[in-house]
Amino acid sequence: MSAGKAYVERLRDGRQVWLNGELIKDLPSHPDFQGTVRSVAELMDLQEHPEIGPQLTYLTETGHRANLAFLIPESKEDVYRRSRSFKLWSEATFGVMSRVSGAYRSQVAGFYAGRDALRDDVPGFDEKITRYYTELRDRDLLLTSAGHDPQIDRTKLATELGDLYTAVRIVRETEEGIVVRGAKMIATGGPYMDEIIISPLAKKSQEEKHYALLFFIPVNNPGVHLICRESFAQTNEEDYPLSSRYDEMDAVVVFDDALIPWERVLIKEDPDALWKLRTNPYLGAIGLHENIVRFVSKLEFVAAVGNELADSIGIKKFPHVREKLAELFFQLESIKALLQAAEHRSFQYGNGKWAPDMKPMNTAKNLGNRYYPRALELVQLLTGAGVLQAPSTLADLRGPLGEMLKLYYKGADRGPVERLNLLKLTWELVGSPLGARHELYERFYAGDPARTYAGQYLDYDKQPLIDKARAHWAAGR
Ligand SMILES: Cc1cc2nc3c(=O)[nH]c(=O)nc-3n(C[C@H](O)[C@H](O)[C@H](O)COP(=O)(O)OP(=O)(O)OC[C@H]3O[C@@H](n4cnc5c(N)ncnc54)[C@H](O)[C@@H]3O)c2cc1C
Repeated sequence: MSAGKAYVERLRDGRQVWLNGELIKDLPSHPDFQGTVRSVAELMDLQEHPEIGPQLTYLTETGHRANLAFLIPESKEDVYRRSRSFKLWSEATFGVMSRVSGAYRSQVAGFYAGRDALRDDVPGFDEKITRYYTELRDRDLLLTSAGHDPQIDRTKLATELGDLYTAVRIVRETEEGIVVRGAKMIATGGPYMDEIIISPLAKKSQEEKHYALLFFIPVNNPGVHLICRESFAQTNEEDYPLSSRYDEMDAVVVFDDALIPWERVLIKEDPDALWKLRTNPYLGAIGLHENIVRFVSKLEFVAAVGNELADSIGIKKFPHVREKLAELFFQLESIKALLQAAEHRSFQYGNGKWAPDMKPMNTAKNLGNRYYPRALELVQLLTGAGVLQAPSTLADLRGPLGEMLKLYYKGADRGPVERLNLLKLTWELVGSPLGARHELYERFYAGDPARTYAGQYLDYDKQPLIDKARAHWAAGR
C-alpha cells in the first residue's frame, strides 16, 4: 500500500471530529475534508517518488527511510539537507499548508535530541521520548500541537477561573495513566493528523503547577473531541483553487476525562521542567526552521500572483505599481536572506547537534507577521475591484452568455479563462474565508506578536552595542 493510501486508511480510526454539530463518520469521504485529505495523501506519496523521494527522506539506523524532518543534524550539510526537503515539500502546496510539513516532526526531533537536558529533572523522559520519536519516525506519522488555554479571562490564572478544568489538568491518576479534563486551543490540521502534542505555550507558575503537563495523544484517543471551526472547504476546484485543496482546519481539542497512558505523559505537574524544555535553544532552532522555509514559499507565491495581476491588466508600466511589486520582492528577499544567514551561521548547540542560528530565524518569524498582512494589502491594491468583477463561477463562460462574456473578461495579455483563473486564485488569497484565516495564521501561529517581539528584545544581547556606544561617548568627552 502506498504511503498516501496508508495515511487515508489511518484516518478511519474512530476519531471524534465534530463539524456543524455532527460527528464526522468518514473523514476521507466527507465533502468538507476530502480535498485536503487528497492533498495530504499526495504529499505522503511524494516520499516514495523515485526522484523526489530520496530528497525528502533519509536512511535511519534501523534501515527505514524516514522524512528528513526527523533527521538530527550532525553537520551544517545536514541542516541544508533538511532545508532543501522542507522547500520541496512546502512548494508542493505553495507554502499554504503548515501542519503536514515538518514543523512538529522537527519539534519532537528536538525533544529527542535535547533529552539530556531533562534526564536528571524528569525521571523516564529519556526513554519515553526515545520510544515516541522512533515510533513517529518509523511509522511516518503526522502531528500537530495544541498549546493554548481557553481565552475566557486573560487577566486570571487558570486556578482563578472558578471551574478548575477549563485549561487541561489531571482529574485523577490510575495505574494505566492520567485522566485529564479541559480544552486546548487550537490544533491546526488536527482532524488530518495522527498525533497531537499537548502542552501549555505560556509559562506556568508553581501556583498553576497542575496545568504544567506535556503529553502526546493519538487523535483517536478515547475521550478526546475535536471541535472544528466553520469549514472553508469547497468541492469546486476550478472556482476555489485553494479552498478545495488546502483547508487545513483548526480545531479545539476537548478532553472529556480522557485516559492518557503513562508512556505518553512526558512531564507531569512540573512548571520548571516544562519551561526548561520550551526555552531550550536547540529545540527552538530546530522547530522554527521549517516554518521559515515554508514562509519563503508562501511569499514567492503571493509575489507571483501580484506580478501576474499587474501583467493581466497592463499596469506594470506605472511607477507606483512597480513600487508595490518591488515591495513584494523585497519582503521575499529579506526573509530569504534571513533564512540563508541562519543556515550559513548554523552551529553545534550545547547537545553537540547542529541547527540554524536562532537570531535571524526569530527576526524572520517576527517580520513575517507584519509582512504577510502587508503582502495581502499590496495584492488588493494591485487588483482593485477586479476580484469582485469575476462571475460567481467560471462555468458562466461555457453557459448561454459565454461568448459575450469572454469579451469582457479577457486580459491585456491573456484570454478570459486565464484571467478568471487568476482572479479566482487572487480572491482565495485576499478575500475568501480561507485567505482571512491565513492572514490570522501568519500573524499568530508562533504566538501573540506583542509578546514574541518582547521576547526577541529580552533575548537580544544588547551589551556589546551599549559598550561600543559608551566607549564613543567617553572618547568624545
Ligand atoms: C490560524 C491559526 C492557527 C493556529 N494554530 C495553532 C496550532 O496549531 N497550535 C497551537 O498551539 N496554537 C495555534 N494557534 C494559536 C496561537 O498560538 C495563538 O493564537 C497565539 O499564541 C495567541 O494566543 P490567543 O489566540 O489565545 O490570543 P491571546 O493570547 O488571548 O491574545 C489576544 C489579545 O489579547 C492580548 N493579550 C492577551 N493576554 C495578554 C497578556 N497577558 N498580556 C498582554 N496582552 C495580552 C494579546 O496581545 C492579543 O492582542 C493558531 C492561531 C491561529 C490564528
